[in-house]
Amino acid sequence: MNKEIFVPAEELAKQRDFMKRCRELLVKRFGDERSPLAYVKSFGCQQNVSDGEKLRGMLAVMGCGFTEDVNSANIVIYNTCAVRDNAEQKVFGIMGLATHQKELKKDLLIGLCGCMTQQKHVAERFKMRFPAVDFVLGTHVLHRFPEIFYGVLASADRGKRKRAFVIDECDGVIAEGLPEVREDSVRANLSVMYGCNNFCAYCVVPLVRGRERSRRSADILRDARALIEKGYKEITLVGQNVNSYGKDLENDLTFPELLEAINAIPGDFWIRFMTSHPKDCTKELLDTIARCEKICKHIHLPVQSGNDRVLGEMNRRYTREQYLSIIDYAKKTIPGVSFTSDIIVGFPGETREEFEDTKSLITEVGYNSLFTFIYSPREGTRAARMDDPVSAAEKAVWFNELLDAQRDIGMAQFEACVGQTLRVLVEGEGKLKNGILSGREGREGDCVLMGRTEHGMVTDFFGPRELIGQFVDVRITEASNWALAGERI
Ligand code: SAH
Ligand code: SF4
Repeated sequence: MNKEIFVPAEELAKQRDFMKRCRELLVKRFGDERSPLAYVKSFGCQQNVSDGEKLRGMLAVMGCGFTEDVNSANIVIYNTCAVRDNAEQKVFGIMGLATHQKELKKDLLIGLCGCMTQQKHVAERFKMRFPAVDFVLGTHVLHRFPEIFYGVLASADRGKRKRAFVIDECDGVIAEGLPEVREDSVRANLSVMYGCNNFCAYCVVPLVRGRERSRRSADILRDARALIEKGYKEITLVGQNVNSYGKDLENDLTFPELLEAINAIPGDFWIRFMTSHPKDCTKELLDTIARCEKICKHIHLPVQSGNDRVLGEMNRRYTREQYLSIIDYAKKTIPGVSFTSDIIVGFPGETREEFEDTKSLITEVGYNSLFTFIYSPREGTRAARMDDPVSAAEKAVWFNELLDAQRDIGMAQFEACVGQTLRVLVEGEGKLKNGILSGREGREGDCVLMGRTEHGMVTDFFGPRELIGQFVDVRITEASNWALAGERI
């Protein structure tokens, strides 16, 4: 393992020192009557959410409080996603608004980080088109946020505003021990690795997140134990391709061994992981899921397409048959196992017949639900240079057909739960309006609670608020194609 991947302890100590110095400048700027308020908004995947939690951690050490209301914030940070064009457009839209907010509130500080900023052409656009932006951090310099933020604060203090644009073009680093303030107190994401080596033809992630690098299992296990001690009831191990965890480490654990070690930590909690790449999904992994009682019997296994030619063009490195044989083995080995998947509709050159193969595959597997996307060209990827003759209107027709097909498949999966008693982890209050229990009333003092089953199915039931954060047995009485409802036992 290349030791240089780990950010040295001295560098991290230097950043801690900058956090203290930022704290002093923030007091000078906003007074010491109350903490300056930060608004940190993360878009996209769990990795981004986790980065956002580290930013919040560093801001907390600097003495900041947090707000969910952007208008009341003194520091606004958008942690962006680049995986599809609509995610990027959302941020460009918001930047217009942020510019206006800065006109009203001159001392507002605005920053951007995440996958969009790691792309040179996008960072350039932020620089030229949005003068209101004070700092831009690429994905590989997140741990240097204190130093960069200090530069911005100090220059403003001297009456000479200096914007910072720091985008390091390396293969990525691992910074252990950054403080974090988590968004959720029941479920926690825990990064096990960063980056991706797969270069699927459509995907920008390897271009913005660097090469695969695994955290040491001892660090992951330490974090997992701490989370469980704090009372977290669900831990999701996060990485772009968790199945290749550990391949870059020497004398350390493989992913199934890591799962086994987390499963052995005492306590009542669930383990999930994402994302599993089908090309690396081994029988050993599936046997481990079957054997370990804390691992949810639910696998998110993105297939993207059901057609071999399209899968080849996508550089996914498995065939339809290989994918289906994994599903088959999992169904035989893990009683009651369920699946979800990601699908891309309208990859360049995909034909109607090839799309039909995706439709037949989803019926064959019987997914609980799907994350479906219309192909979005990403600059710098191989697919962006391919011919794409099918019109957007035609792709939208296919997309809707896929949603219709999945609606029936999902409905069957959800209806099969009616009459069963399922364990639900209660995440928070549910919605009565437009929810599955809409128009109903619970006992006095009860509210609608929302949780998820081990299979990730949203479940609503009436109960007291105190149950939030706990496992509850619920007898399922009704189902829609996206949710369950029931009664607490
Ligand atoms: N590492 C994960 C997911 C990465 S991105 C994996 O390999 O499964 C999440 C999902 O976004 C992908 O699974 C894919 O379905 C979708 N996606 C990625 N790039 C896309 C693009 N250019 N257009 C449309 N969907 C895309
Ligand atoms: Fe993107 Fe493929 Fe890597 Fe997933 S495995 S992040 S889809 S390149």
